[in-house]
Amino acid sequence: MAFDKRFNPEELRQFIQNKYGPGVQVEVFPKTQQDQTDETDETAHRRKEALQFDYKPSQIAEYLDRYVIQQDDAKKVLATAICDHYHHIQSCRGQEDCRDYKKQNIILIGPTGVGKTYLIQNIARLIGVPFVKADATKYSETGYVGGDVEDLVRELVHQAGGDVRLAECGIVYLDEVDKIATAMNIMGRDVSGHGVQRGLLKLMEETEVPLRSPTDIASQMQVFMEFQSKGKVEKKTISTKHILFIVSGAFTGLTEIIKKRLGSKQIGFMGAGKSIEEEHFWVQKAKSVDFIDYGFEAEFIGRLPVVVHCNALTVEDLFKILKYSEGSLLKQYKRDFLAYSIDVYFTDEGMRAIAEEAAAEQTGARGLMTVCERVFREYKYQLPDHEVKEFIVGREMIKGPDGKLRELLDKPAMYHSKILQFQLGKVEQEFSDKYGINLKFTPEATKLITERAEKTGKDLLIYCADLFKDYEHGLKLLRKTSGKNQFVIDKEVVLDPAGTLERWIKEAYR
Ligand code: ADP
Repeated sequence: MAFDKRFNPEELRQFIQNKYGPGVQVEVFPKTQQDQTDETDETAHRRKEALQFDYKPSQIAEYLDRYVIQQDDAKKVLATAICDHYHHIQSCRGQEDCRDYKKQNIILIGPTGVGKTYLIQNIARLIGVPFVKADATKYSETGYVGGDVEDLVRELVHQAGGDVRLAECGIVYLDEVDKIATAMNIMGRDVSGHGVQRGLLKLMEETEVPLRSPTDIASQMQVFMEFQSKGKVEKKTISTKHILFIVSGAFTGLTEIIKKRLGSKQIGFMGAGKSIEEEHFWVQKAKSVDFIDYGFEAEFIGRLPVVVHCNALTVEDLFKILKYSEGSLLKQYKRDFLAYSIDVYFTDEGMRAIAEEAAAEQTGARGLMTVCERVFREYKYQLPDHEVKEFIVGREMIKGPDGKLRELLDKPAMYHSKILQFQLGKVEQEFSDKYGINLKFTPEATKLITERAEKTGKDLLIYCADLFKDYEHGLKLLRKTSGKNQFVIDKEVVLDPAGTLERWIKEAYR
């Protein structure tokens, strides 16, 4: 079919209907100014240098520590594999010979909600490469269509804002890959899982994926338009040579296979009972042959040389996620309430109670979200319509949220003095963490500070920072002279902070 160089809507209609049948309706809108600008942007994007990678494994692991609690082994192995991979890409671009390189695709093993995806998401964000995640079951359930797995690669281009070179350095993450293991059954191996493994294998090896999906109408329309304006269609593809593939899953039953291979001698690790350490101990010993026994093709597993294990999370880990992770869910809750000018404070006991309930959900850190959603659902709905401007979350609120909500609605200021004490506790904590000096506020001092802070309209923490601005230096000096590192903050200190400090120092020197 020959096309006129000018755009002809009728020809487009015919082209699409020949390809997809008369059921497909085509509507054509004139080209806008915006479309033209977008095209120029895309070209500019493509010209941009794709990736600058200059990290050491320890730097990546340190970054992960800010967000991901525990999983220290996983952090190390991942950080090292990621550095190898991206240094290799850079050396290839520097024209060095890279034919014999074995790509560091990764198998990530661990129960649900323990940070497998979160680790990779954070790595991708740190190094600035696009990241795409999908479930392997999506492909086995619908029956394998070759184009489907290729969509993952095309999605990378989308995530990279059309920058193909950057997309070629991206990360594809496929979850629930254990579900496409094809255990032998009476009918032979399960065909759909086998098909998905084949499809993925092709991608993990070096291949060129067309940028335009042969099964997507919109992409085909673009082909048509290009043909019409240029008289030919440029073949645009994305190479999978440097795309990093990470597959993950719980791999239930894998440890039994490993134990069997290693013989009965090593069974009974550190006594009876299945602990987190025991699971980790065995999974660390996984070899290709165990995955083949599990139901994977040898070639498929051969393309995934790095095995990483993430542990189940304990109550203490969940508590630390809430308290220390920079991605803590509680930050989001604070922001949500702040949108209605409501301050919410989480005590350690409150966070521990959330962690305990979350652990019972058995969905890892996802349980934290389930518990918070259950506890705070009514608070989020009702508080914005009432007087409440602050509240504090303790163990009792987590155990009986409805009762506490009723109390709070009756007495909107009921937590006020508790919150002030809580904030002073934070000042004590900060001094101890930063300078190793213990402060102890007497009840009188607490009362006086809170009254004064309120009178001046200042936030308590800001008021204290101002009040004790000379104390960091002064108390360090005192500790050095007298060896003392515990100081009682009484009424006298609050009334005359500078004078009291001076007196303390003079006494110490005397
Ligand atoms: P999975 O292991 O199933 O891939 P995810 O990594 O998606 O689980 O975890 C779900 C969410 O739970 C993450 O987005 C993150 O907020 C939180 N999370 C899970 N594990 C951790 C962890 N070890 N440290 C901090 N947050 C975590």
